[in-house]
Amino acid sequence: MPWTNTNDRKLRARAEQVIPGGMYGHQSTFLLPDEFPQFFRRAQGARIWDADGNEYIDYMCAYGPNLLGYAHPEVDAAAAAQQRLGDTMTGPSPFMVEFAEALVGMVTHADWAMFCKNGTDATGMAAMVARAHTGRRKIVMATGAYHGAAAWCTPLPSGTLPDDRAHHIFHTYNDIDSLDAAVAAAGDDLAAIFVTPLKHDAFVDQEMPDPAYARHCRDLCDAHGALLVVDDVRAGFRLARDCSWSVVGVEPDLSTWGKLIANGYPISALLGADKARAAASSIYVTGSFWFAAVPMAAGVKTLEILRTTDYLERIEGLGRTLRAGLQEQATAHGFTLRQTGPVQMPQILFADDPDFRKGFGWTLEAMKRGVYLHPWHNMFLCAALTEDDVRQTLSRTDDAFAALKKRGNDLPSTDRLQMILGPH
Ligand code: PMP
Repeated sequence: MPWTNTNDRKLRARAEQVIPGGMYGHQSTFLLPDEFPQFFRRAQGARIWDADGNEYIDYMCAYGPNLLGYAHPEVDAAAAAQQRLGDTMTGPSPFMVEFAEALVGMVTHADWAMFCKNGTDATGMAAMVARAHTGRRKIVMATGAYHGAAAWCTPLPSGTLPDDRAHHIFHTYNDIDSLDAAVAAAGDDLAAIFVTPLKHDAFVDQEMPDPAYARHCRDLCDAHGALLVVDDVRAGFRLARDCSWSVVGVEPDLSTWGKLIANGYPISALLGADKARAAASSIYVTGSFWFAAVPMAAGVKTLEILRTTDYLERIEGLGRTLRAGLQEQATAHGFTLRQTGPVQMPQILFADDPDFRKGFGWTLEAMKRGVYLHPWHNMFLCAALTEDDVRQTLSRTDDAFAALKKRGNDLPSTDRLQMILGPH
């Protein structure tokens, strides 16, 4: 069936009438090539189907929540069993305790867990716990890092006040001198150092954490009595069956989780060490849906699968094959790719592409051939992907490189994206 987007266009036109801008947040229409589908009807395993029935091998995993494969039979069965009993009830189900025990059992630094809905809830709670624990205000974080979309951390300033970030001090990820300077600027008012486990910012190359930088974050927090927070919302359980900084031998005081901990069911978590337990029990945080039972049942099953299968080794192996194949193809077609970060969370940018038009062109050509890639955000591999899927992907990306070459300068516009990004 040839690729079409008639239904998507109709839905977009209707959305324009009843949804501000037609769409918002990371699905905003200008963030991707114009023809990328906005609406999807179905997802199964490593595949998604858009509103026109086009099928894609999906390398976005819903921006992270899919790890084991969409509609995973065991996770869905656990969720369905609880669904029949009750979901949002007057209080949580026993699964809440089981889920907290399972997380605390897997994540070395964690002695307790609190549940919420989105990653932004968890990062906001981490900031509150750090401030409650220390009685101080300043939070040191890395320039360009994404910690969510509340007023204190959303990347665009519209609707926020300078006061919302008055107590943030920025440094450069992996740069010990700039970290020292930021901590010095906090003086005796440092509540926390907030870091992502690797630099996985949009629009730029990813960077693995320098172990010396990670250790320095730990040492500074200890020296100043501040809390170290690792924001594992995106990378959690994709690098380790533990907090992602276990790989560099550094244990934080708090870590934030979300996206995949229930393989797509809506739930996120703040995990913490005993040190921060009293502060965590002193803050008032909650939400109407935070105690829903179905996501917790799904989460317990998800963690069991993470502990007992080779999902991590599989996505690493497939990621290596994909990276090597793309490298070879790009060279053969005369393009230079910058592939960075963990192979299972690949960031793929074109060298000499400051306006992202080559990236838009290539991902558009791949999308029309049934491979859903992203031009400037890190992608994700899921454990339902097979070697055959990667072979099919590479055959289609090869054609997409050839089509990109043929387009020459006839590349999709990124003007609206440029307006938001400013000089980059
Ligand atoms: N922190 C990080 C590192 C993230 O990647 C994200 C989401 N992309 C968030 C926080 C916010 O999570 P959510 O979108 O679930 O609020």
